[in-house]
Amino acid sequence: MQLNAHDCDGLRYSWIDLVAPSRVHAEMTAAQARQLAEALIACGDLWDSRILADSIPWAHLCPLWCSQHDEARDPKAEQWHSGQPWTVPVIGPQLCGSRVRVRLCAKDTRFDRRLFVCLTVRDDEAVELTGPEARRTAAALLNAADDLDNPLHRT
Ligand SMILES: [Zn+2]
Repeated sequence: MQLNAHDCDGLRYSWIDLVAPSRVHAEMTAAQARQLAEALIACGDLWDSRILADSIPWAHLCPLWCSQHDEARDPKAEQWHSGQPWTVPVIGPQLCGSRVRVRLCAKDTRFDRRLFVCLTVRDDEAVELTGPEARRTAAALLNAADDLDNPLHRT
């Protein structure tokens, strides 16, 4: 995550750049970063509350929150379950009309079920986070949003 600014015709445009491990990135305003942080915190809380219930032997039943599943996404998993996504539209100065999505996902193998908070930047491959990792990402976004709103950063 980084803060960027460019000056054009006497005006300064600032934004937060969220960069996925694949280098795909999304440009966000402070308000969008806060919205994404909220989604990450909400999903991190779901990850916490559902981890125990969902690790009890499940006999290949969908989790209650499952809204979509997919068998082919990962050769190591037998099935993926995905919850409803939180979608944050992002409108950076250079990348218009893209989006970042956060959703709770479960990966079933023959032996267990693991939960992830999946963060997708512009339809790239999802980054799999645990609940605590989702909250740390949210904290970094909130800090970046505060920095962006700090008058010292403006012209
Ligand atoms: Zn399912």
